[in-house]
Amino acid sequence: MKIGIVGCAGRMGRMLLAEVLATKGTQTAGGSERPGNPYIGKDIGELAGAEPSGVSLGIPILDDAEALFRVSDAVIDFTVPAATAHHAALAAKTGTALIVGTTGLSPDQQAEIDGAALKTAIIQAANFSLGVNLLAGLTRQVAAILDDNFDIEIIEMHHRHKVDAPSGTALALGQAAAEGRGVDLGETAQRVRDGHTGARRAGDIGFASLRGGDVVGEHSVIFAADGERIELTHKASSRSIFARGAVRAALWTDGRAPGLYSMKDVLDL
Ligand code: NAD
Repeated sequence: MKIGIVGCAGRMGRMLLAEVLATKGTQTAGGSERPGNPYIGKDIGELAGAEPSGVSLGIPILDDAEALFRVSDAVIDFTVPAATAHHAALAAKTGTALIVGTTGLSPDQQAEIDGAALKTAIIQAANFSLGVNLLAGLTRQVAAILDDNFDIEIIEMHHRHKVDAPSGTALALGQAAAEGRGVDLGETAQRVRDGHTGARRAGDIGFASLRGGDVVGEHSVIFAADGERIELTHKASSRSIFARGAVRAALWTDGRAPGLYSMKDVLDL
């Protein structure tokens, strides 16, 4: 399978390129970057090698994403929300499968993805790691068993460069908890607390975000009652887990009908 990587010079883009090159049954179709990025026109191998000069793959990095979609069976996108909405339109236009890892999309940007999924297979996940997807399943299960004497709080910590909060993964865990409990996350989410907030509202699902250092991603779901507390925690120590999951998702799209899929589908959870 020929896999293209948009945003190939980013932190995740480089990981994805290395993963595609290391995975049997996949080859790189190339990569694209934001117009004006200093890597445009350079050999994509420069991003992949352990040596400073990298390895030559004879594939220049493009600023024309449509050209990349045309030579790819699947494209992986871990970029920024505005670019991802544009890439979804290109996926629909060219009939290319799309793997979306970008988080922090607005409702309009999400609608762009939902529309494109009528034309091609799209896999979207706030977190492509196996462990976090298992954590979401366990959260749903535990929330379904416990009543609302157990307060649900979700804590996440990420590196200092992360621009959105709470993390997409924390919100997905909140969604799993809400589904398990049979409530609407929009009505129960308590995303920020500051100042004189008053007592905790029964049934709320609370979020807290920490930022600092080079933390790859840590998430805990806490179920706290009088006298006892259950804590489910996942700690990512390498970004390679997201790249591995995304490439696995790309392979899974082979021959797949149009539709919007999640890692729950890919991992058959
Ligand atoms: P980053 O800033 O290092 O990389 C983003 C890259 O996208 C940059 O190289 C940027 O130049 C490029 N880009 C921007 N606009 C573009 C355009 N129009 N065309 C092509 N490339 C463009 O960020 P990152 O840490 O790699 O994270 C990227 C996204 O992935 C974020 O939204 C982050 O939250 C998300 N993420 C998701 C998961 C997951 O498992 N779903 C895991 C890690 C990160």
